[in-house]
Amino acid sequence: MPLEEKYRNLIRFAIPQAEKEETLLKLSALYDCVVSTNERINITSLVSPIDVTLKHLIDSLTLLQAPVFGNFSPRKRICDIGCGGGFPGLPLATVLSDHEITMIDSTEKKITALKENAALLGLERVVPLWGRGEELAGARGAHRGRYDLCVSRAVARLPVLTELCLPFVKTGGRFVAMKGQKAYEELKESRRAIEKSGGALAEVIEVKTDFHDFPLEAFSEEEKEKIRDYALSARYLIVIVKKKETPAQLPRKWAEITKKPL
Ligand code: SAM
Repeated sequence: MPLEEKYRNLIRFAIPQAEKEETLLKLSALYDCVVSTNERINITSLVSPIDVTLKHLIDSLTLLQAPVFGNFSPRKRICDIGCGGGFPGLPLATVLSDHEITMIDSTEKKITALKENAALLGLERVVPLWGRGEELAGARGAHRGRYDLCVSRAVARLPVLTELCLPFVKTGGRFVAMKGQKAYEELKESRRAIEKSGGALAEVIEVKTDFHDFPLEAFSEEEKEKIRDYALSARYLIVIVKKKETPAQLPRKWAEITKKPL
């Protein structure tokens, strides 16, 4: 079932870049795909319209608050590492239809479902790819240094994520990590990983989603509460710029990356 209009209006209010009817209809169809896929394989614990709207669709699109999207010329290459059921990459692809978005996950069934969903949604520039990030961007990996932008949500703590993601990025490109209330704590732990992987911190953006002027009458009390909670939750975009090539020995094997972060 597609998303009711009240949820589409909430997205339109929160994300100005998604205001086109065509984009909203794609996001609504995406909701339908997520719920149907979830009946076959577990890709998310969030399936109610309000949860998917807030925590998958709107949340993924808050990435657009990163200034890098402001002067993004067409046909850029973006990758989403550890995309799971498709977040943040699929919502992003509905807005950024000119760009190629490679979506990588190590779980084959998630990538199989993603292929089906991207085709159903007509997202022609989405490239689902099954594999481990540390292998695809290893010293001889075909995806090393290939992307203008790498994004990732809910995959690992920042020191681990930096070693995993920065090798995918071209020199001069950016890696944007979506983080919650522990963002600054994780950033503090990541100084060495950022520097050793060839990066430098560009900025930390506090994500703002303000529903103050949005009329909430159409929503149930429980939904109103969820909307308020989401607006109050701490969310940050940590933007790392790639200054120089990542040394050939990085990324290491997953067990090493996670047991002994840089
Ligand atoms: N990004 C999605 C989201 O926010 O809904 C999914 C998050 S899920 C908690 C983490 C995903 O990362 C899983 O689907 C897992 O298979 C994937 N993953 C973990 N380590 C990975 C690696 N080294 N390379 C590729 N994918 C990985």
